[in-house]
Amino acid sequence: MSTSYTGSWQEDGLCRQVSPALMFPEPGESADPGKQVCAGCPVLVKCRDHALRHNERFGVWGGLSENDRKRLRRQARTASVVPLAAPAAPESPRRAA
Ligand code: SF4
Repeated sequence: MSTSYTGSWQEDGLCRQVSPALMFPEPGESADPGKQVCAGCPVLVKCRDHALRHNERFGVWGGLSENDRKRLRRQARTASVVPLAAPAAPESPRRAA
């Protein structure tokens, strides 16, 4: 990954050993070569977590393409929808007395 980020896990990324073009494919190009690099990377989980937390928009991060991350964000938004009104809790028999 060719970014301005510095830190311990980034330094261990396998993408530091390949062409940035693999990790940042042009529109219409496949992200699969970059994902294959990630598949063997020892910091994949940290990288994926970073990308999702920081909303990285471009390139392959943690084995996920831009579209993969968009899909996950969309799924997370859908899953986090909370009903506006929670159902009323049943009244305690002790309070009713
Ligand atoms: S998981 Fe992929 S993008 Fe992340 S550091 Fe490793 S090789 Fe680079």
